Amino acid sequence: MTQRLYYSEPYRRSFDATVLSVDEVAGHSHVTLDQTAFYPTSGGQPFDTGTLGGAAVTDVIDREDGAIAHVVSGALRAGDVVSGEIDWARRFDHMQQHTGQHLLSAAFDRLSGARTESFHMGQLSSTIDLAREVSAGEVAKAEDDANRVVWEDRPVTIKFATAEEAAAMGMRKESARTGTLRLIDVQEYDLSACGGTHVERTGAIGIIAIGSVEKFKGGSRVEFLCGGRALERFRVWKGALSAVQKHLSVPPIEMAASIERFQEDAKAAQRVLRGFQERLAAQEAQALFARNPGKRLIAEAIDGWDAQGIKAIAVAATAAQSDAVVALFTSTTPAQAVIARGSTSTVDAGAMLKQLAVKFGGKGGGKPDLAQGGGFTGSAVALIDAVRVLIGDEQPG
Ligand SMILES: [Zn+2]
Repeated sequence: MTQRLYYSEPYRRSFDATVLSVDEVAGHSHVTLDQTAFYPTSGGQPFDTGTLGGAAVTDVIDREDGAIAHVVSGALRAGDVVSGEIDWARRFDHMQQHTGQHLLSAAFDRLSGARTESFHMGQLSSTIDLAREVSAGEVAKAEDDANRVVWEDRPVTIKFATAEEAAAMGMRKESARTGTLRLIDVQEYDLSACGGTHVERTGAIGIIAIGSVEKFKGGSRVEFLCGGRALERFRVWKGALSAVQKHLSVPPIEMAASIERFQEDAKAAQRVLRGFQERLAAQEAQALFARNPGKRLIAEAIDGWDAQGIKAIAVAATAAQSDAVVALFTSTTPAQAVIARGSTSTVDAGAMLKQLAVKFGGKGGGKPDLAQGGGFTGSAVALIDAVRVLIGDEQPG
């Protein structure tokens, strides 16, 4: 058994202890002590980091035998008296998130009767899973009420009681544990059995901000950020918003509408462009025949046209000449490709395009009369040569 100093002194950052055992596990030392202020991963809260006897603590494990194992890289021996130092910034962040979770869970419970099934503290934000789905209105109310309690700066005290005593005091959720329970009491707001670390007054949480809310296992998964994490998220969003603002020149509240207008304008412009492309394609098809007099097989790279454009040209060309086989490429790198054949030709355009894709590392396919692809990484000359060989193989002459 390790005496857990953080149970009664969550603000303790340094301590002295005697090393009880050192086990080598997978190249690391697992060190147990007679007492520790290091919090081990449990109850949704991650472990503390810091140093032990000058060595970095990289993990802290709550063992089934009641001991806490500190994973360190340094050489410690049983019997050593060592000093431990907690990384306080990390721990305090965990205390803000964890106490904020108690308030938020209590708020959902009190206002909406939505119970918290589980809690997870992540690297950037945390989540609670509620037993039933909550509406946007319920989320806003719970967020408001939890923050009201933050700003009232109520004391958060640690109590120890038997399960019967605790039940009589009115806990938010009954504990499955037996023996003495450790209770976290947010004055006149929430009483919960919990082994984690918490701030000593609610004001230290700073703020509780809810991020995303999504459906999860018949209930809701609520993402939230407390204190420093909420400020960090605000900074990230502020940076992203001002970057967008440079392009849009409208206040954040008008950005979504502004982007929608841009998208509609772009779609309209796209439709006009397609119309022009189709009309031009017929002329380009005639130009193709003029550049390749008497040929049934035409392979070319065409400047200034995109994939849709070369497809329109190939379709127009094969509609005009039923025995034509037309393979066109964009002049981009990598190139896009289209192969089309007229109604009296027996060439398999889809099969040819697949063979090209194998040779030039692209992707694509299609039907015997029309196939498309992209990502071809050969020069225009190499692509044209390859397609001539393929056409020649299939249909000599
Ligand atoms: Zn807790």
